[in-house]
Amino acid sequence: MPSTLPSTSPTPLPGTVVILGTGGTIAGTSAAAGDNVGYTAAQRTVGDLLVAVPALAAAAIEAEQVAQLDSKDMDAATWQRLAQRVAHHLARAEVVGIVVTHGTDTLEETAWLLQRVLAPAKPVVLVAAMRPATALAADGPQNLLDAVAVARTAGARGVVAVLAGRVHAAGAVRKVHTYRADAFDSGDAGPLGVVEEGALRRFADWPAGAPLGLDRLAGDVADWPWVEIVTSHAGARGDGVRALVAAGVNGLVVAATGNGTLHQALAEALDEAAAAGIPVWRTTRCAAGVLVGPEVGPAAAMSPWQARVELLLQLLPSPRGAN
Ligand code: ASP
Repeated sequence: MPSTLPSTSPTPLPGTVVILGTGGTIAGTSAAAGDNVGYTAAQRTVGDLLVAVPALAAAAIEAEQVAQLDSKDMDAATWQRLAQRVAHHLARAEVVGIVVTHGTDTLEETAWLLQRVLAPAKPVVLVAAMRPATALAADGPQNLLDAVAVARTAGARGVVAVLAGRVHAAGAVRKVHTYRADAFDSGDAGPLGVVEEGALRRFADWPAGAPLGLDRLAGDVADWPWVEIVTSHAGARGDGVRALVAAGVNGLVVAATGNGTLHQALAEALDEAAAAGIPVWRTTRCAAGVLVGPEVGPAAAMSPWQARVELLLQLLPSPRGAN
């Protein structure tokens, strides 16, 4: 198919957009309006967030509260329920897209989980904010407006994140700043697009791939595999890895230095773990770049935390024999 990029999508699709609330700073409040960091996340409902965006008042939108948490505390049960609700609404013919309000801290993990499990043929847009809803210049309302615009874009598909006017694909999105409003980036890939006055200007293809299927998440979350991340650093030791193995860890992701190098003491313990049948996936602790070389493994292009999600999904039983 000939490339049509960059493309601009000025005409929003009619149909329903479902907004699923999970909490986060976008739903946070602070006692003082000037306080951008001393707030409590997950205080306002998704319905409250919509009220703050008058431009959406007349739009065909449904809101549902799936959870109400600070995403630093994201857990398997919430992921399971969120994926189920997203899948439920995606299956409705009148729904053109889904928006998920989420905290920024683990947004990239949820984005990857939803992309891999559902690989949706309609857009699933994660939206967040770096400042609470009570801030003098809250970023949440504009981000929400932009997210709905992306969810209504003709031809949109896959899981993306929208913040500060930029759209990031699920696999590329990374939180890269601790407090700035424009805290997300897509690294070498660059953003998928930008939202300009309600229209998406797109530079790259939508996320695609074969879904693992919702059944992958069907089991009791208490039985989900235990996957941990360990880091290589100066003075690293193998004792932590050996303790994890003794405690029954099911998979390990290592955030290696540079292009995948490991402290020899850590490497020894990881080799023992691998010899004991525990999958060990290598990633880099570098903020940008991928592992390059002949034996980099399945997580070469993933952040450690997205690799943890991927390994978890691979270790979950595959009820229908999916990939
Ligand atoms: N701790 C918050 C959360 O992840 C941070 C945020 O949303 O910006 O829910």
